Amino acid sequence: MTTAFITHKDCMLHNMGPEHPESPIRLAAINKVLQRTGLIDQLDQVTAVPVTEEQISLAHHKLHQKRLEAKLPQEGVVYTDDDTAMCPESLHAASLAAGSVILATNRVLSGKADNAFCAVRPPGHHAEYNLAMGFCLYNNIAIGAAHALMQPGIQRVAILDFDVHHCNGTVDIFKDRPEVLVCSTFQHPYYPERYHEIDRPNIVNCPIAAHTEPHIFHRAIEEQWLPALHEHKPDMIFISAGFDAHKEDPMADLNLEEEDFRQVTQVIKTFADQYCQGRIVSVLEGGYNPVPLAFSVQAHLEVLAGF
Ligand SMILES: [Zn+2]
Repeated sequence: MTTAFITHKDCMLHNMGPEHPESPIRLAAINKVLQRTGLIDQLDQVTAVPVTEEQISLAHHKLHQKRLEAKLPQEGVVYTDDDTAMCPESLHAASLAAGSVILATNRVLSGKADNAFCAVRPPGHHAEYNLAMGFCLYNNIAIGAAHALMQPGIQRVAILDFDVHHCNGTVDIFKDRPEVLVCSTFQHPYYPERYHEIDRPNIVNCPIAAHTEPHIFHRAIEEQWLPALHEHKPDMIFISAGFDAHKEDPMADLNLEEEDFRQVTQVIKTFADQYCQGRIVSVLEGGYNPVPLAFSVQAHLEVLAGF
């Protein structure tokens, strides 16, 4: 069993300032824990490559990238919305983050890896077709999923998002593409309050109230995600792996722990093994308390790698 671990040191260069929760420390913590536990040595370590302009346009308006480039500062930090900022290196990091998902997809489809995890930032799932928001510049997972759909043998994909925030960007991009099933569990009411009430057969929104016990989260997976997956019959699965539903995360109020992330990953992996040759590409989204984030990623990766 080969699990690719795709990252790039330059993803740490994206820095929105010392007070910003989406900080380079997140990736540093993940790397530190995976090295300390030795798990990193069990993974196929791959360096991310930049995305191309054409690949970005698979999920975004062709002017989206140009607008961000025009705003990119020479020095300091420029805000694109109330909580999303760019420093001079941000678009380089964003390019590597999106490019990592293309690379992961290619490695899984070529058989070089059974599955893959992209430890990258900035995250992506709030970025809409024509809008950067919520710490996200390019929708990394949407670019990867759209790329996968152009490859031979891939007619349908599923994007499963257990980040504590609703994946408005991913829904915006795929709401009218029935070949993409998007399933999302998220704290509600909560940011971003867009598209959470949309009615489409390929969008499965599972709102969860703050302070709900973890079994409600697992029930949503069992009772809403799994039937939709069985009906959709994806050829490949993408995971928007946000770990900010962790009980020690400062950003939200769900009560999950490492073992809950292990359990949901196992449910997804069991489905993928049975129905889509185990093809999974998982991409880091949120998770803002560095140590619980890192141990949650460890649990997620242990399942993907078959430990
Ligand atoms: Zn989040």
